[in-house]
Amino acid sequence: MKTIGLIGGMSWESSIEYYRIINEAAKEKLGGLHSAKSLMASVDFAEIEKLQHEDRWDKAGEILVKCAQDLERGGADFIVLCTNTMHKLADQITANVHIPFLHIADATAAKIAAAGIKRIGLLGTRFTMEHDFYKGRLINNFALDVLTPEKADRDIVHRVIYEELVLGRIVDASREEYKRIMNDLLAKGAEGVILGCTEIELLIKETDCSAPLFPTTKIHAVAAMEKALEQ
Ligand code: GLU
Repeated sequence: MKTIGLIGGMSWESSIEYYRIINEAAKEKLGGLHSAKSLMASVDFAEIEKLQHEDRWDKAGEILVKCAQDLERGGADFIVLCTNTMHKLADQITANVHIPFLHIADATAAKIAAAGIKRIGLLGTRFTMEHDFYKGRLINNFALDVLTPEKADRDIVHRVIYEELVLGRIVDASREEYKRIMNDLLAKGAEGVILGCTEIELLIKETDCSAPLFPTTKIHAVAAMEKALEQ
């Protein structure tokens, strides 16, 4: 079994989900007392969040590169970055380590393709919904048509992530807002919705939407365990 190198803490509310899911997947696939071999380098999210909102991505990248290098030195066989947003820095990370990087959008796109879906809704931070690094990858590498909410609704989705979910606050009224926003995307032709922020699945469950949901924490963590078991 390979050792999974997790870059976590963004936020820790979702990193613990990664830890739980990789171990559940190991148990399910191997049975008995098996569990996942993993290392986690976990950052202080307050520092990262400040750099994001000050548009100082290079500096945030330096922090994540150091995490990845620490994991590589510690014996990790590949890197799993436990946040969608920080995949904006995927190239900076991969350029500075020698081990593979399991991209969250690629793992998610594989599931969307397997479901036969072409037009997909995307919820995430403002950075994930508006910058090109995530949508662009889905469009260019996987030929998906990606729909995001209108500006006012993107602001709601972003605010709920940073003011509630990363603090572990699950608010019913916010769930209702997310349901309305997902329904809006379906009305515009989306055949499913990517929960493209690793905390959204703490708030939204399969039963909250009439179309298939793609929870990126679960998808990415299970893909990590599958990769760990590859020969
Ligand atoms: N965990 C979130 C994501 O998947 C947001 C926190 C962050 O900015 O990293 O995008």
